[in-house]
Amino acid sequence: MSGGWVAIVGLGPGAGRMMTPEVADTLAQASDVIGYLPYVARIAPRAGLTLHASDNRVEIDRATHALELAAAGGRVVVVSSGDPGVFAMAAAVFEALEAGPAAWRDLDIRVLPGITAMLAASAAAGAPLGHDFCAINLSDNLKPWDLIERRIALAAEADFAIAFYNPRSRARPDGLDRAFAVLRDTCRDRRPVLFARAVTTPEQALRIAALPEARGDMADMRTMVIIGSSRTRTIDRAGGPLLYTPRSAL
Ligand code: SAH
Repeated sequence: MSGGWVAIVGLGPGAGRMMTPEVADTLAQASDVIGYLPYVARIAPRAGLTLHASDNRVEIDRATHALELAAAGGRVVVVSSGDPGVFAMAAAVFEALEAGPAAWRDLDIRVLPGITAMLAASAAAGAPLGHDFCAINLSDNLKPWDLIERRIALAAEADFAIAFYNPRSRARPDGLDRAFAVLRDTCRDRRPVLFARAVTTPEQALRIAALPEARGDMADMRTMVIIGSSRTRTIDRAGGPLLYTPRSAL
């Protein structure tokens, strides 16, 4: 059947006004919305729209379902928080596409970007990602913890600012403390660490700690952790500090 499509979209970090107009327009045309339950809960129900909410950790099933619905003529939106290409559904849909029937390759598939948590957190605090930086997902669902530690150590050695996604979960209560131990071994200074929780929502909370004092229990699943480079610093002001990394490495 013709006319079906899949759009893999990012809803942004939380606040409705941070969703792009392109994503809002696409949602208005959808027949089906697919995603992890808390993200689907952000979509207003309306006549003609079916919401398919699923549990976490079933990304490939969800992606396959989206492609099947589109192949049958559905106008399908797959939702992620932030940006769909950052530790989210876009790569999962392409994995399902690669493994699926050849006919799926003729589908109209689009990826629509969103504001990722790292950028919203950085903006809320100042400009900690103002010079070279990298992003690391601390979840070991899809990769071994050894690889995570190796990447953290090498990123710190290369003096990147580092953004940690998924810093903590119930299944991994000590992962972030282990990550800080690796950083302290490599860095040996008092660079600032930003804990930015629920950025752009009414629960937003920012906290800055020096690396020797940073602890895993300062973060939860809704927190973005940004470790400064050796050059990252704060400007103290009555209204609260600004955290920034100068644009030169000198
Ligand atoms: N695709 C998403 C990331 C999914 S991974 C994006 O581009 O933002 C989920 C992780 O993102 C969370 O564990 C947390 O580390 C971070 N995150 C998502 N929304 C956030 C927010 N509003 N404030 C702080 N961190 C957030």
